[in-house]
Amino acid sequence: MTEVHVFPSAPAGTVSGNRGLTVEEPLLFEMGGEAGCGVDLPEPRDVPDHLTGFARKGRIGLPGLSEPQVVRHYTRLSQKNYSIDAGFYPLGSCTMKYNPRLNEKVARTTGLGDLHPMQPVSTVQGALEAIDAMAAWLLGLTGMAGVAMSPAAGAHGELCGVMAIRAAQEAKGNPRKIILVPESAHGTNPATAALCGYSVVAIPATAEGRVDIAALKAKLSDDVAGLMLTNPNTCGLFEREVREIADLVHAAGAFFYMDGANFNALIGRVKIADLGADAMHINLHKTFSTPHGGGGPGAGPTVFSQALAPFAPLPFVRRGDDGFELVETRAQAGADAHPFGRMKGFHGQFGVMLRALAYAMSLGKDGFRQASGDAVLNANYLLARLKDVLSAPFEGPCMHEALFDDGFLKDTGVTTLDLAKALIDEGYHPMTMYFPLVVHGALLMEPTETESKQTLDAFIDTVRALAAKAKAGEADFFHAAPRLTPRRRLDETLAARKPVLRWAPPKAE
Ligand SMILES: *Cc1c(COP(=O)(O)O)cnc(C)c1O
Repeated sequence: MTEVHVFPSAPAGTVSGNRGLTVEEPLLFEMGGEAGCGVDLPEPRDVPDHLTGFARKGRIGLPGLSEPQVVRHYTRLSQKNYSIDAGFYPLGSCTMKYNPRLNEKVARTTGLGDLHPMQPVSTVQGALEAIDAMAAWLLGLTGMAGVAMSPAAGAHGELCGVMAIRAAQEAKGNPRKIILVPESAHGTNPATAALCGYSVVAIPATAEGRVDIAALKAKLSDDVAGLMLTNPNTCGLFEREVREIADLVHAAGAFFYMDGANFNALIGRVKIADLGADAMHINLHKTFSTPHGGGGPGAGPTVFSQALAPFAPLPFVRRGDDGFELVETRAQAGADAHPFGRMKGFHGQFGVMLRALAYAMSLGKDGFRQASGDAVLNANYLLARLKDVLSAPFEGPCMHEALFDDGFLKDTGVTTLDLAKALIDEGYHPMTMYFPLVVHGALLMEPTETESKQTLDAFIDTVRALAAKAKAGEADFFHAAPRLTPRRRLDETLAARKPVLRWAPPKAE
């Protein structure tokens, strides 16, 4: 057994503790004494009497560091981060990871990047046209009747969709009580339904990893307001029965919400309207370019069927006789519209919409078709070249991501987590682990449309070699991983039981 601490350092074997060009990095508070200061400030003078009371009584414990010290600290930290610009990222349930530089450039264009949401409408005609153009792309690609551009993330788009469902049910006289959510759903689906005041009833998955139609039939009733279905689902599988599911839901007087976060796998190939969906959010940051995963802004525009479109939220952009106008109130929306309210103070994440528009215009409809084809082809290449050494829980081809379970690790003493840690030593960000929950010890890999065959082959060879090592009884090798990172494996139990969330400066003597 190797000894494991909460933050154990890698054994450096160097005088300094540094490894090659990876420099050991203390906290800012450990580096800078309070006495120092990064700038020379004059002593305060001529302070008016009424301000002297605000003078600091004692030191507040900020580290005194120079600008180059601070710059180096954060630059070194950034170099310890793995990124899509540094290497392959097979993380599943994330969709596109590489975002073309062009789209970033467009979003920063002077005149678009510096707008204020309260500028007079006459001065932002170009911006409104850009929002309208992106809305038109989304309507064209999905075949749906209406779109709300303002939701700020996928989960926010779900909220928008379910609020529209509630408004439509209320308009029919009864909001109803239940939203049905299949077990293979993304966690945000049941959370959204609960937030909108609905009870969540789960639909089990079949042995094939798809919705159990018989179970769905048994759960449908007058109390069901809607069904939320992720398609392709979180097992990376297309719900083949989607049309039948939509018809059953509609026959029960309920609405069909389709989680479109994985639209990347269908785009340019399937019209969402043809699948019978009443609402679907689209994660612009997952299908239409915008770096995500670092907590930056996303956007979750939500498309609606004819039945739900009148309930879409305010505000929205409309093409008027004298240019583009902003519809901000129910009165402006007109007699046929019944907006349920607002999702945001202003119009949504405009910068994300600009990236999406630049991406759409550079790819074109045929380019989207190729992107979804390449994403699905790459995932199936991984599946085909790994399924003889790993274990695939479901038969047949996948969509945009390949799912494996930990059956191949049985009796080896190696877990999914151990394998992931070993991949880090090999220079790869691990795949998604232990999700979806419907599969034991899941390993979910999503290569995306941008990876070359060389990159995929190198990754596949590494995974095959590691699987062989595990089966050859080399469990200790895995338990010691990662060995080459700035920090070794966390003691996750200790970190969860006794989290140290605050750094306290050492007490002065
Ligand atoms: C990512 C994702 C979401 C949530 O999107 P956010 O932008 O993270 O809120 C919802 N459903 C599925 C299937 C997803 O993959």
